[in-house]
Amino acid sequence: MRAPSGIAPLPDYHTHTQLCGHAQGAPREYVESARAKGLPAIGIADHLPLLHTRDPQLSMDRRQLEGYVEEVSRLKETHPGYVLLGIEADYVPQTLAQMRDLLAEYPFDYVLGSVHFIDGWGFDDPRNIGGFDSRSVDEIYRRYFELMGEAADSGAFTILGHVDLVKKFGHRPAEPMEGPLSLLAATIARAGLLVEINTAGLRRPVGEIYPAPSVLAALRKAGVRVTFGSDAHAPAEVGMDFAAARDLALDLGFVDYAALVPSRNGSRAQVETRPLPAGDAE
Ligand code: ZN
Ligand code: FE
Ligand code: FE
Ligand code: ZN
Repeated sequence: MRAPSGIAPLPDYHTHTQLCGHAQGAPREYVESARAKGLPAIGIADHLPLLHTRDPQLSMDRRQLEGYVEEVSRLKETHPGYVLLGIEADYVPQTLAQMRDLLAEYPFDYVLGSVHFIDGWGFDDPRNIGGFDSRSVDEIYRRYFELMGEAADSGAFTILGHVDLVKKFGHRPAEPMEGPLSLLAATIARAGLLVEINTAGLRRPVGEIYPAPSVLAALRKAGVRVTFGSDAHAPAEVGMDFAAARDLALDLGFVDYAALVPSRNGSRAQVETRPLPAGDAE
């Protein structure tokens, strides 16, 4: 038997820092936590400054980005091959061009692409939960998956983050979503994008890993490769529930996962396929 928050030796590519205004801890503490838990690598991927709005509780300020890159780059030097410089960037159609320009200014190893805004509504922010009452949940889901598809098609991202984040507070569509989902899976596969198995959903009202087993099954069928992310907003959350995430992948028939190997010339990391570590013996 395993503890529910059991660790599996997989790289964690989705971690935040205190810079974003809603997380705790310095990058160094996240790296130390990853080492202490025996993870093979860690990527720091704090929120890129938002371009369509400004909110110190959602992301760092533009003026802090340089310092973030320098701090994580120093950790890359002191932990060669262990630390990666990532960033979590919001897909917002209106600011896509600006976002590309901003990303191009820094040597990110990878970019996690996330949708946290549906037509200006920050739907995953508890402050805005009332928005779920003023529209149809089916319509919200359809629009969300449509935006994810656009994000995949944009070519701006390495990994798509929490692919069904829209379920965060437990709202479920009445209509079947197979159609939009198989379309999304095909788009992701065609784009050659990676998708993360994100354990933060277990710590949210929905109580379920992102993406749901049915979504992950559609992605596997389409040939999409996966990474793992805790979406840690505190150092203690690094690698959290990775054993459950690994078990979910194995149950759905995945035999390997995607690992990122930093390049030396400032371009994006190389993607390597590695076998999933076996589950614990019962
Ligand atoms: Zn965050
Ligand atoms: Fe996110
Ligand atoms: Fe995140
Ligand atoms: Zn996230």
